[in-house]
Amino acid sequence: MLVEIEWDVLSRTIADCRARLPFEACGVLLGEHKSDTLRIRTCVPLTNAADRPETSFRFDEREWLRILYEDDLRKRAGHRLLGIYHSHPAAGAVPSADDRAAVWSGLPTYWIVSLADADSPQIAAFRPHRPPGAAHMPCELLPLAYSIVG
Ligand SMILES: [Zn+2]
Repeated sequence: MLVEIEWDVLSRTIADCRARLPFEACGVLLGEHKSDTLRIRTCVPLTNAADRPETSFRFDEREWLRILYEDDLRKRAGHRLLGIYHSHPAAGAVPSADDRAAVWSGLPTYWIVSLADADSPQIAAFRPHRPPGAAHMPCELLPLAYSIVG
């Protein structure tokens, strides 16, 4: 699977993460899925409703349900939910234990923006994967290569 993200989307995602410091930002990424290529065309920031937003994130339930509900409508317009993102204000772009415990295996991509070095944000993409027969285990988050386009 090829994963492409538009430069403009990447910079808006990073800007959202910066704007919400010292808290974690979170949101969804939408775009097109054509044959074996995912092309991310927009980001939608969601409210972080976690009790401790400095070190965790949880989508506001109503906003998240609206995204899932509208996915059917977007599919007809050629856009669909392709991933989620969140930031690590002071940690690296690697999944925490909490991230792995909470990730949903049906999600195509999972992005982490690290602002530990404010001058040079790091963005890593992962592919959630749950091994067959491991329903009780946390998802694995396998590194995912992507290209920046447009
Ligand atoms: Zn995290």
